[in-house]
Amino acid sequence: MGIAKRAQAIKPSPTLATAAKAKAMKAQGIDVVDFGVGEPDFDTPENVKQAGIKAIQSGFTKYTPAGGTDELKEAVLEKFKRDNGLQYDKSQILISCGAKHSLYNIAEALFDPGDEVIIPSPYWVSYPDQVLLNDALPVIVETTEAEGFKLSAKKLEQAITKKTRALVLNSPSNPTGLAYDKKALEDIAALAVRHNMYVISDEIYEKLIYDGFTHTSIASLGKEIKDLTIVVNGVSKSHAMTGWRIGYAAGPKDVITAMTNIQSQSTSNPSSISQKAAVEALRGPQDFIGTMNVEFDKRRKYMVERLNKIKGVSCLMPVGAFYAFPRISSLFGKSLNGKVVKNSADLATLLLEEAKVALVSGDAFGADAYIRLSYATSMDSIKKGLDRIEQMINNLR
Ligand SMILES: *Cc1c(COP(=O)(O)O)cnc(C)c1O
Repeated sequence: MGIAKRAQAIKPSPTLATAAKAKAMKAQGIDVVDFGVGEPDFDTPENVKQAGIKAIQSGFTKYTPAGGTDELKEAVLEKFKRDNGLQYDKSQILISCGAKHSLYNIAEALFDPGDEVIIPSPYWVSYPDQVLLNDALPVIVETTEAEGFKLSAKKLEQAITKKTRALVLNSPSNPTGLAYDKKALEDIAALAVRHNMYVISDEIYEKLIYDGFTHTSIASLGKEIKDLTIVVNGVSKSHAMTGWRIGYAAGPKDVITAMTNIQSQSTSNPSSISQKAAVEALRGPQDFIGTMNVEFDKRRKYMVERLNKIKGVSCLMPVGAFYAFPRISSLFGKSLNGKVVKNSADLATLLLEEAKVALVSGDAFGADAYIRLSYATSMDSIKKGLDRIEQMINNLR
């Protein structure tokens, strides 16, 4: 007997694996500074929690429609109109158990065996595996630091074949923290329209932006590209609601209908209670986001500045999300206590074992020259962690 080939082709999410290892060390009483985390360290806003409690107390605890409640879909429609200038119909919205679930539903709804899906690297860890799970082929297109980790129209065009079905975009990006401006998106949109391919636009970090950066949704750049784009978003990052599991997708009606049917045969509806909380998150006061961003902004500047002072490390200033993505490849070949750093995974292991700092190696994102540090942790931890990293790297010979 055994396991299906498609399940054998994938690996557990590496970011979650790092978190588990760091957690195990902490449980043993080891003081680990955790830069591996992929979620805000802020608490879910009080008004949102209360909406969840009220849902429980009022008995809103049964099945809802598989694709989400009308009330939450309306709140999502309002959000798209308000924040992105995008008009959808309710039949073009799906509420899922997190943005990751929406993305998975898209992969199931759109990809046939052999289809090619273009994924710029560095990429979020789940994109290639979700493609593989649906017997399609991830086509990884490398972007460079010099390009600001953005896919150029030229590189995109070179990667397009007759089998290309879709492009996955993530802006602002996990892991790089960089984001596409309107002009870059216009160039990509023109190609997508010309080659009639879908764009899967993961905009989960839309609200976490700095230095006055303006987020643009590629779907807002015209009717033709809107008809080819599935926008994915959610409340996990914007409202510190990762555990509530609410994400959503908006796109062409036939794609959303297929995704809804798939969801109805797999998970059914996302939690009724979480849906009520998400309505409050989207419709209630939004000042929580500003408060969170002020804090993230301070940590971002501090972390990047410190990283750039470490010999052999260089880091671009991110404009979104809550990650720094420094280049560390000049350390390859050096060693500590007989342990040679050959790649980013070796460095991450050494940092965890010797410096007691957890982070994610760049190979997880298809970029072995880098490591990812999350600054979704307290300023004190950031200072302590960077002291430790600096010291260990200075001790490499
Ligand atoms: C966190 C994250 C998601 C998933 O968010 P959930 O709504 O919690 O499933 C999707 N895409 C990226 C890039 C993320 O970092």
